[in-house]
Amino acid sequence: MAHMLENPMVIDRLWERFEKEPEVIGECAGCGEEIYAGQDIYDCEGELVHQDEECCMQFVGNKSWCKVAGE
Ligand SMILES: [Zn+2]
Repeated sequence: MAHMLENPMVIDRLWERFEKEPEVIGECAGCGEEIYAGQDIYDCEGELVHQDEECCMQFVGNKSWCKVAGE
């Protein structure tokens, strides 16, 4: 799956903050990418999602039926 968040800068910043390799603590329930300790995430009943519009949209999309409101 194409992923727009592939941004090495984020990981670089985590490296600086912790001065060690960032620890992978889970997988985003939206985009499916790794979640590193120190990143901003949502914890939705145990499922972790990056604090990112795209991830939230994908997360909701993954969990929901697509339908037209009111029908
Ligand atoms: Zn994500």
